[in-house]
Amino acid sequence: MTDLFWLARAVELSKLCPPSETAFSVGAVIVGADGTVLSEGYSREVDAHDHAEEAALGKLPADDPRLRGATIYSSLEPCGQRASRPRTCAQLIIAAGIPRVVVTWREPDLFVTGCQGTALLGAAGVTVVELPELAEAARAVNAHLFE
Ligand SMILES: [Zn+2]
Repeated sequence: MTDLFWLARAVELSKLCPPSETAFSVGAVIVGADGTVLSEGYSREVDAHDHAEEAALGKLPADDPRLRGATIYSSLEPCGQRASRPRTCAQLIIAAGIPRVVVTWREPDLFVTGCQGTALLGAAGVTVVELPELAEAARAVNAHLFE
């Protein structure tokens, strides 16, 4: 499966998010080195403060060795700043040891200014791939936030 296939899955998951006027709807998929899905998640999946990457990571043991060869696909750039919880998704991904992140939509300056998530990941040695082909689809799920 290609990166775009898994990114499309992440966008599909974002459509499951309970609606919010104050946070993005995001989907995330963690895929192992052998191409199998390790976990999936979406914003507000269990708790109103859940982020998609956090929800997906939360379903795996922190020391799961498969994370060290995995890629996490997210419909939105992982957060580098957040108000709701102390650890950002960029920090959680770095702590999990995931070496590769694929995103389609850069976080717009709507809730925080200068998200910096991809920059923080890159600085920590994580490979970040941005495939803007699905950015419009990822944004469309959040169109109500821009009205
Ligand atoms: Zn986040």
